[in-house]
Amino acid sequence: MMRPLALCLLSICLLVAGGCAVNPATGRSELALLQINDRQEVALGEKAFPQAVQKMGGEVNDPALENYVNEVGLRVARVSQRPDLPYHFAVVNDSSPNAFALPGGFIAITRGLLVNLDNEAELAAILGHEAGHVSARHAVQGMQRGMLLNLGLTVLSGATDQAAYGPLAQQAGQLAAGLLDKSYSREQEREADRLGIDYMVRAGYDPAGAVQVQDFFYRKLEGGAEPQWLTGLFRTHPFSRERLQANRQYIAANYPAAGGRLASEAFARKVAGLKKTREAYALYDRAEAFKKEGKLGQAINLYLQAAARAPDEALILTGLGMAYLQAEDLSAARLNLAQAVRLDGDYFYSRLGLGYVHLQQGDAAGAVANLEKSMELLPTLQGGYLLAEGYEKTGRRQKALELYQAVAQANPQGDLGKAAAARAKALPGTR
Ligand code: ZN
Repeated sequence: MMRPLALCLLSICLLVAGGCAVNPATGRSELALLQINDRQEVALGEKAFPQAVQKMGGEVNDPALENYVNEVGLRVARVSQRPDLPYHFAVVNDSSPNAFALPGGFIAITRGLLVNLDNEAELAAILGHEAGHVSARHAVQGMQRGMLLNLGLTVLSGATDQAAYGPLAQQAGQLAAGLLDKSYSREQEREADRLGIDYMVRAGYDPAGAVQVQDFFYRKLEGGAEPQWLTGLFRTHPFSRERLQANRQYIAANYPAAGGRLASEAFARKVAGLKKTREAYALYDRAEAFKKEGKLGQAINLYLQAAARAPDEALILTGLGMAYLQAEDLSAARLNLAQAVRLDGDYFYSRLGLGYVHLQQGDAAGAVANLEKSMELLPTLQGGYLLAEGYEKTGRRQKALELYQAVAQANPQGDLGKAAAARAKALPGTR
């Protein structure tokens, strides 16, 4: 009977060392070892969110759609228990259906989920649910219980770290990955559902939208959901028939006469562009799978078909360019990656690929410009190593040395780390 005792000791420990605060959404008091205040919470979200978005494919390059999703999101967030957070809503360019909220009000919905919705009320239900997680501080509670809190506090305290791939940038990356990977408990999901329904009704939407969208999820799950659903939305937001029924009952009990809008036509107009690229992205996703298996010929063939259908999608051209790069066709890689960067300069991966091509072709200055941008968007080991090489080749010895050393420290046992250590030693004037 060691387990209950250990748990008991743990909770005493929390009582002694921890603080107590009232949760804004639930009114319940919260125990925690350390409390993160609102300002810290926003700062964490601000640091981790852009990196999380980059890791998932960057933002969909459609400003009108982004404005629309922000309008709908703000409408529900402003009637939540935490209306004053600096909410931001992003559409992430990922086919796997998903939505997530980071601490501080940074909320994302994927292209793959958005194209599956039928009306604005469903969108409001999804964003309201995520705003519910934010209001009830679910992500922060999860952090406070786990190792992520220490990481978060380190990231917050390291404000003076300026290095392109210094410890701060690496820790922010780990924090983003850790937060993205966190799943919620069943009770947290139900709470976010109820809060989301409250918000959408207050914002003038028909709560039927919440049931419609969950009914759709349930049918996906029941029909043996495609892997994309299981690795996306259903993994981080556990879903069940009970949850769907609980929401039906909650609406019947609390909003029996609610009217409100579904706004199907407005929604259809705004996502028309996204729906047009749907087929192209289905081809792109199959190409990505081939590329992962090392079947470059088949991958390139499908990327080309995808690019023919949607020639202005930077992500598709990035995939194509990177496949050419792996196939060692540098000129085809350069053509497609340069076009991807022209269409959307704010994606770390196309910048990384283009920087690599420039290095290979002897244009070190061009390489540095693209790799610095890539590292600013998302610090990666590969980007750090290549940028150090670019600094070395443009005669910036000190910067090259620091960056090689940072990569070597971050990846001491890996090939890249070992190579970086060797190049740092071999730099002229270094012992
Ligand atoms: Zn959820």
